[in-house]
Amino acid sequence: MKKQFAVIGLGRFGSSIVKELVDQGMQVLAVDINEDKVNEFAGIATHAAIADTTDENTLRSLGIRNFDHVIVAIGDNIQSSILTTLMLVEIGVSHITVKAQNDYHEKVLNKIGADKVVHPERDMGIRIAHNIVSKNVLDY
Ligand code: ATP
Repeated sequence: MKKQFAVIGLGRFGSSIVKELVDQGMQVLAVDINEDKVNEFAGIATHAAIADTTDENTLRSLGIRNFDHVIVAIGDNIQSSILTTLMLVEIGVSHITVKAQNDYHEKVLNKIGADKVVHPERDMGIRIAHNIVSKNVLDY
């Protein structure tokens, strides 16, 4: 059976995750509080839903417990990101990945039980620096 993913927050980061998962043949529910963003994904994701994911009942009505992996890609609104993550942990979602905006955000997310915290700008900066160094080593 295909793995079921849910992506919450359809900014640049969340959008690219949805598109890549769909390209990889996965089942993806795309969720955002913003109707326009959700409409953009109606023809791309397997399902798309307008929802405020800080509300536990809303999350439950999406059947979020049944997803194999939920990705929280709410960046700017740190309070919403933390609350959403906490609700997902309390509901018992099996695997939760969250995008952190800064080190304090990351610390809180780890404390409340996120399985994986990513920091795309920092992580990508590190990867690019490593690539540049290893390329330079090979060039000499
Ligand atoms: P990126 O750096 O990925 O481009 P962004 O700045 O475009 O991020 P953010 O403002 O970090 O986007 O938020 C990502 C998305 O999360 C937005 O589309 C926003 O509408 C959505 N979002 C914010 N709060 C909630 C919430 N409570 N429930 C659902 N979606 C939310």
